[in-house]
Amino acid sequence: MSALLEVQGVTQIFGDKRRGQVVALDNLSFSISDERPSFTAIVGESGSGKTTLARILLGFQSPTIGNVRYRGSDLHHASGREQETFRREVQAIFQDPFEVYNPFYKVDHLLEVPIRKFQLASGRAATRTLMAEALSAVGLRPEETLGRYPHQLSGGQRQRITVARALLLKPRLIIADEPVSMVDASLRATILETLRKLNQDFGISFLYITHDLTTAYQVSDNIIVLYRGSVAETGAVERVIKEPQHPYTQLLVASIPLPDPERRWGETVVAAPRTDAARVGEDRCKFADRCPYVMPICQETVPPLYRTAEDRAVACYLHREVETVLEGDISQAFRQYSAAS
Ligand code: SF4
Repeated sequence: MSALLEVQGVTQIFGDKRRGQVVALDNLSFSISDERPSFTAIVGESGSGKTTLARILLGFQSPTIGNVRYRGSDLHHASGREQETFRREVQAIFQDPFEVYNPFYKVDHLLEVPIRKFQLASGRAATRTLMAEALSAVGLRPEETLGRYPHQLSGGQRQRITVARALLLKPRLIIADEPVSMVDASLRATILETLRKLNQDFGISFLYITHDLTTAYQVSDNIIVLYRGSVAETGAVERVIKEPQHPYTQLLVASIPLPDPERRWGETVVAAPRTDAARVGEDRCKFADRCPYVMPICQETVPPLYRTAEDRAVACYLHREVETVLEGDISQAFRQYSAAS
């Protein structure tokens, strides 16, 4: 498999030795295929390292250790031409559609900027056609959207415009960091459906970063569950959510509210989440404090990722009878699924 994006042994440490260091991301490796568009969710509570990962993947910060490669080139040592390719082919959608809009500009301006910058069209008519196509692709009516100011549109419409803006550049990969958390619950599903449709119709891969396991399940092929900067579990989303193998994933799945008359509310005890980051040199399972199955070995060494099936990997000693995933590259765990989907 040739890789579009490769994350190789990425570790991010904040702070200094005198005041104390915390590990936001701990030796994370995975890749996104260049050949087959995928939809991968990266899920975790606050403090799990999701936002740090998004910043590193978008080139906003360099990791302390490891590197991120796009089309084989190290993002942080890329030539000007490679950086331009990256800026065009990798687009971001952020949490708060309200923040990114200048209230004094009409929607048209937001869409015209990338068209001008990347010379996507020449002349007013071609620009207008391009904007109309992008808006239609995300389910907006151009005649009801263009010419308006942000305050004249709903939050859901504004978030769709950011998606349309990303789409103008015909990206290969969209990194969507909590794209629907500020949108009304009633609109979340339709916006996520739009993202999924873009994945299928335009062949765009998505990295969907979220705290919300339910929406991750709705739209994704693969999932990476992060806990305090490390991968707890990964694999095909269907199997991870339906049969979670890591005690942390089990806890997350058990806390999803379900309309099940057989299940009494409060039946599942959900321990308070740890939101502090991991310390440098923490030499045990990071989930040991919360885990109902903790064993002596869990307090002594960090569990590696065990390959529990062709499309699964779990960092937990409960599965230590199977082989470990080579070099911690979790892409191996869901490659099988991506290739088959
Ligand atoms: Fe629990 Fe041990 Fe597994 Fe960590 S390694 S999740 S403490 S059983």
